[in-house]
Amino acid sequence: MLETLSAEIIAIGSELLAPDRTDTNSLWLTEKLNSIGIEVKLKTIVGDDDARLEEAIRDATRRSKVVITTGGLGPTEDDVTRKVAARALGRRLSLDETILAELRQRFLSFGQVMPERNSRQAMVIEKAVVLPNPNGSAPGMFIEHEGVAIVLLPGPPREMRPMFENHVLPKLAGRAGSVKVVRRMLRVAGLGESAVDEKIAPIYTQYDNPQTTILFNQSEIEIHLTARGRTEVEANALLDRLSEQIEDRLGNAVFAFAGEKMEEIIGLKLTLGRYTLAVAESCTGGLIAQRLTEVPGSSKYFIEGAVTYSNDAKTRTLGVEPVLLLEHGAVSAPVAQAMAEGIRKRARTDYGLAVTGIAGPGGGSEEKPVGLVYIALSDDVHTEHRQLQIPGDRQLVRWRASQAALDLLRRRLI
Ligand code: AMP
Ligand code: MG
Repeated sequence: MLETLSAEIIAIGSELLAPDRTDTNSLWLTEKLNSIGIEVKLKTIVGDDDARLEEAIRDATRRSKVVITTGGLGPTEDDVTRKVAARALGRRLSLDETILAELRQRFLSFGQVMPERNSRQAMVIEKAVVLPNPNGSAPGMFIEHEGVAIVLLPGPPREMRPMFENHVLPKLAGRAGSVKVVRRMLRVAGLGESAVDEKIAPIYTQYDNPQTTILFNQSEIEIHLTARGRTEVEANALLDRLSEQIEDRLGNAVFAFAGEKMEEIIGLKLTLGRYTLAVAESCTGGLIAQRLTEVPGSSKYFIEGAVTYSNDAKTRTLGVEPVLLLEHGAVSAPVAQAMAEGIRKRARTDYGLAVTGIAGPGGGSEEKPVGLVYIALSDDVHTEHRQLQIPGDRQLVRWRASQAALDLLRRRLI
């Protein structure tokens, strides 16, 4: 009953297959299509290659009700979309004198004479509706072909986006019916992927709608929920019901309900309680301070961050007793605690957060292996710490250590 139209996107351009350019058009288009209840089931990136593109367009029109291409509408030899789409659909391509005149006029308005090669941009596929392009020279096309809507859009985002919003979205919205697709992302800290799945699979497998996907991302688990409804309100109600059940099951491990980042959640909680925070970092080298201060308005609660990498700095800046460093080593629970207390007193904040660990790849030993990290949190009543053994390379250990430290604070603030 809540059938959505299925769409696919073909991003055209050899530069999109090279490492230096990313296909962002399809991401933007997917969001817009979702908003009118059209689901993107597949996307393809094709280089400027006649044969491959023809194949891609043929396949796409066989399986999807909506096919959108971007790119390859320019004036140069490698821009083949018009020609190839016409061939794939078995339709003629002919020069449209009106468009040609408009193109010449467009160039004249810039005080230029249109280069002859631009005239290929006035070639139109038989029975296509031409989509005007006020932001560039390449018009787009909307073609109805055997029950499938095929839309050819220019590649540059600043041309593609307004063309899609003004001329394509209204046409597609009609045929999409009234099915709305709404997404939500929950973020989880402190639990592994399989632990999360084990807990919530019995819940989410009961529903076809919303659909649930679990993703692992650095050290977080993301739970993506997608719901369909006749209205957005209906779809959101379905999301509410499922996400409440998931929250019940996972408890405090769920830290965000609308895709917020950990540092944003911390910021909200600190702001709400009017608390202040200072951070002392060793192995994370300022990453925690960096993440916290990326949030606008963080100056309200973030007072100070110290990167105390050497033993000497830990003593000089944070007042860590040399005897602690000598007896336990820099990577130890007592030193992490002393760092948290030291920075809190120095900065006169409500909370002091500290991290010390071995990020690797060198510096590990049998007793203290790479990935051993201590985090500590101090307030004026007490100081707590956690010992972690974090898997992964240097970058991951640092990121996960920062996440664990922020999560320790988040849990205290609940
Ligand atoms: P074209 O219409 O193929 O001449 O594309 C011109 C320019 O648009 C390219 O050089 C890119 O900078 C940009 N572009 C093309 N396709 C995409 C895409 N899928 N995502 C983002 N930018 C694109
Ligand atoms: Mg191109």
